[in-house]
Amino acid sequence: ALREQLTGYPHMKLVVLPTMYPQGAEKALIESITGRQVPPGGLPADVRTFVTNVATANATHEAVNEGKPLYERVTTISGDPLSTPQNLRVRIGTPINALIEECGGFVMTPGKMLHGGPMMGLPLTSAEVPITKGSSVITFLSQKESEREEQTDCIRCSECINVCPVSLQPILISNAYERGDIDEAERLGAMDCIECGNCSFICPSKIPLLENIRGAKQAIKAKSAG
Ligand code: SF4
Ligand code: SF4
Repeated sequence: ALREQLTGYPHMKLVVLPTMYPQGAEKALIESITGRQVPPGGLPADVRTFVTNVATANATHEAVNEGKPLYERVTTISGDPLSTPQNLRVRIGTPINALIEECGGFVMTPGKMLHGGPMMGLPLTSAEVPITKGSSVITFLSQKESEREEQTDCIRCSECINVCPVSLQPILISNAYERGDIDEAERLGAMDCIECGNCSFICPSKIPLLENIRGAKQAIKAKSAG
């Protein structure tokens, strides 16, 4: 369908990428398509690139060409606990409860509700929370999927380093955060973490690497804000 739409636009090119997580991450996408690497701490503009997703491009078109303000968006309501997971066009401000109802309710009690996908999503504690313009996915995990395995000591397998798409050393940043050395976490490039969750997912010792790196990023931001 996209190819058909692109006929007559010779300056536009459709590039099909392999299905690979986190292929959609901005910096990974830029490198896959253009071969350019955004420098540590840098922005896409530093390598003369601008990235936008389909929903944002469409919202921009509607705002500029049709004068339509951003009052609704398509949100994916997903996960095994739902009776009928689906993509819904919803008004911004709609409580998640209403979307659960629209999906036919639950077939099992969910263990966790996430604002985002299973890897990067942030836990939500109430379904009264409204959809915002940034709510692309609401994920429900089953109780089994939500179980947290017991954390053990790092076995220095280096798997977290091997899977990091932006070449960070997650365990070192996590350790720095845990001992309160925020300067070291910053020096190790914590702010370049794209929060893909690969490191936490792969870690055989179940160390909450992403959680700690998110904490380090917040601490760095707070420090910079003075
Ligand atoms: S979440 Fe982990 S693997 Fe992903 S970018 Fe951050 S440090 Fe790297
Ligand atoms: S993946 Fe886990 S156990 Fe392996 S080096 Fe990283 S933190 Fe340590």
